[in-house]
Amino acid sequence: MHWADVLADELAKEGEKKHVLATGITPSGPIHIGNMREVLTTDAVYRSLRRRGVEADFIYVADDYDHLRKVYPYLPESYEKYVGMPISEIPCPCGDHKSYADHYLITFLNSLKEIGVKPKIYRANEMYKKGLYNEAIQTALENTDKIRKIIETISKRELPKGWIPFNIRCDKCGKITTAKPILYEYPNIEYKCDCGYEGSVDIREGGVGKLPWRVDWPARWKMLGVTFEPFGKDLGTVGGARDTGEKIVQEIYGYPPPKYTVYEFILLKGKGAMHSSKGTALSSEEMLSMTPPEVLRFLILRNQPNKHFVFDPGVGVLSLVDEYDQQERVYFGKEEKTRGMKDLEKTYELSQPYEAPKKMPYQVPYRHLVTLVQIGKNWGEVKKILKRTEQIPKDLSEIDEKHLKQRVEHVNYWLEYFAPDMIRFEVKKKIPKIKLMTEQKKFLSRLIENLSTASYRIF
Ligand SMILES: [Zn+2]
Ligand SMILES: [Zn+2]
Repeated sequence: MHWADVLADELAKEGEKKHVLATGITPSGPIHIGNMREVLTTDAVYRSLRRRGVEADFIYVADDYDHLRKVYPYLPESYEKYVGMPISEIPCPCGDHKSYADHYLITFLNSLKEIGVKPKIYRANEMYKKGLYNEAIQTALENTDKIRKIIETISKRELPKGWIPFNIRCDKCGKITTAKPILYEYPNIEYKCDCGYEGSVDIREGGVGKLPWRVDWPARWKMLGVTFEPFGKDLGTVGGARDTGEKIVQEIYGYPPPKYTVYEFILLKGKGAMHSSKGTALSSEEMLSMTPPEVLRFLILRNQPNKHFVFDPGVGVLSLVDEYDQQERVYFGKEEKTRGMKDLEKTYELSQPYEAPKKMPYQVPYRHLVTLVQIGKNWGEVKKILKRTEQIPKDLSEIDEKHLKQRVEHVNYWLEYFAPDMIRFEVKKKIPKIKLMTEQKKFLSRLIENLSTASYRIF
C-alpha cells in the first residue's frame, strides 16, 4: 500500500470528523525543496482522505510574524537594522513586494499552482493583528510557570529569569526580541527595551507581540483544529519543538496533538542537506522550473517521507524524466512492469498536478527534446522539426501539445542554469573559419551522403 494511503487510513479510523491537514513555513529566505516535500506529502494524504469520502481541509500557515534572525548570506548588510523585527514588517529586498516575507512567499505560492496544490493560506501576521491569537496569549500568560516547566524539563534548556511566554513588540524600535517584561497584570504588560524605550502593551490588542515558537505552534493546532501536520526531522528531535508542543497543547490548551509523519531531507548531489539559512539551498521555484511538475511530484511521492534521497540537478534530471515516462507507459499498459515499481498506479495518479490523463500523453524522449531545444530554442520551432521528422502526428491533440510545450520550457530553463557543459551545444548561423584537411572533407561529404539516404530511429 502506498504510504499516503496508510496515513489516510489512520486518520479515517478516528471516526466521523473533519480533518485539518496543516503545513507551514517561516518565509525568511528562498523557500527550499524541503518545504515542497512537506506540502506534497500533505497533499498526497489530503487527496487520499478525500477519496475515502472523509471531509478535510488543507491549510498552509506562513509564519510571517516571526522575526529576522540574522543577516543571511543572500541579504545586503544594511539588513542588520531589521534583525529582531517581524519579517512582515521589513521591506522587501527587491522593492516589488509588500514585505520581506512576501518577497519569498509569493513566488512559492505561485509555484504551488503549477504543481496542483491548493491549500488555504493563513498568514501569522494577519492572525496576530486581527486578534485571533488573543485568547491563546492570555491562556499562555496565565500558565507562565507551567509552560516554563514543560519547556525546561523537556528541552533541558534553562529559560532566563523573568521569562514569559510572549515576545513583546517594542513600540519604538519594532523588534520582538529585545523588550523585557517588567510586570504583567492582565491585560497589560509593562516592558523595558534594549533600545532604551519603556512602555506597556495591552494584550487585548492584536499585533503587540508574538508567542514564542514553542508555544505558537501548539496554540495554532488548537486554534485551527489541526489533526495532521508533518514536520522535518530537525523539529522532531528529542526535546524539540514537537515534543514540548505535544505537552503544551494537551496540558495548557486542552487539545490532542495532531497526528504526523516526519519527513527527511532531500540532499542535493554534491552539496548534502539543504538549508536555506546557509544559502546553499536550491529553491523550490528553481527545482520546479527545471523539472516538469508531474515529474517533481513523482520524485517526492514515490519516496517514503522518512527516507532521504538525493536530487541531482545535472544529468539526473534527464534520468528522472525517463523513469517517469517509463512508468507512464507501464501505467497505460504499453510496457511490462519491472522490478522496483512498487505502488506504481497510485504513485502515477498522485504525481498528476491535476486530473490523471485518460489516454497516455504523447511521449517524445526527453533527451531528444534536450537536443531539439538547442536547435529550435522554442516550442514553435521544436514542433516544426518534430512534424518534419514525423515524430509527432499531424493532428497532435491540444492536451498533448500543451504537455510537450511545457516540457520544452523546463528543458530551456535546465539548459540555461543547470545542464552540464558536455550536454550543451550551439548551432552556428555562420560557418566558422576553420581549415579542413582533405581527409576530413572527404569524410564529411560521405557523411552527408549517408545521412540523406539513411533510415533512422531515435535512441
Ligand atoms: Zn521583492
Ligand atoms: Zn525597542
